[in-house]
Amino acid sequence: MSDLVYLNGAYLPLAEAKIPVLDRGFIFGDGVYEVIPVYDRRPFRLDHHLQRLQHSLDGIRLANPHSEAEWAALIAPIVEAADWDDQGVYLQVTRGPAPRDHAFPEECRPTVFIMAMPLSATPAEVVEQGVAAITAEDNRWLRCDIKAIALLANVLLRQLSVDQGCAETILLRDGLLTEGASSSIFIVKDGVIAAPPHSHLVLPGITYDVVVELAAQEGLSLVQRDISEAELCNADEIWLTSSTKEITAVTRLDGKAVGDGRPGPLFRRIHAAYQAYKHQVMRGRGLAPGVEEGGR
Ligand code: PMP
Repeated sequence: MSDLVYLNGAYLPLAEAKIPVLDRGFIFGDGVYEVIPVYDRRPFRLDHHLQRLQHSLDGIRLANPHSEAEWAALIAPIVEAADWDDQGVYLQVTRGPAPRDHAFPEECRPTVFIMAMPLSATPAEVVEQGVAAITAEDNRWLRCDIKAIALLANVLLRQLSVDQGCAETILLRDGLLTEGASSSIFIVKDGVIAAPPHSHLVLPGITYDVVVELAAQEGLSLVQRDISEAELCNADEIWLTSSTKEITAVTRLDGKAVGDGRPGPLFRRIHAAYQAYKHQVMRGRGLAPGVEEGGR
């Protein structure tokens, strides 16, 4: 059954999953979430995602309702029941239902929700041709390291690119690159890969970390440092990364070609390395050298 979800201790069809309207997730966006890619029904880097969930929960001062082992056990039936071998598992924890008041309720009953979504492979033409993106001022709050369900700024920023027929909005704060509305961003200049370091201004991307590891494994130069707007606009290559989009080349930025307008040579190398890593680790064909095992 593809629409099985988990809600507060029970597995049930999506249509039967209901929460009280006074849930603080609904009223205040008071909650956090994770999206875990699952390949061949094996969660990818589940431990990293659960550690990031802990970081997000700590950031909003909400006790984790489950241990890592409990989370893995809760997720497993959802993964097994889904129609797709490759999935994105979405999980969300809110501060639960309470009379409407900004201050935390004295007694907190968190709401825990888990569902699976299909994870479609990036179309071949997107890998071959890349995607277009626009830039915009990053007007989000200053705790973007928390994977908060309050995503209104991200939603509005992402829609700007949809309105222009583009795949992503790349964000700049005070003249420096932060990330995409729903992705991490890398640039390449003169053979060197660069990405903004993890900080309170960006989500610590799990795919970002994989790319950093794969670059080292491939012997490529990668620096984590501040990147100016001018460097972004003059980059030879731009990539976006996320759990659902993996690694995609950005070949047009604000209507202008990035480099020669085609995915660059380092994109091709890192994309191939990512696919090989994914297949080796997740399809059970042994570990990629130098890279730790992901999954449950
Ligand atoms: N930054 C933002 C704002 C995101 O929403 C996402 C993914 N949804 C990412 C970065 C990439 O994170 P990950 O690689 O863990 O999916």
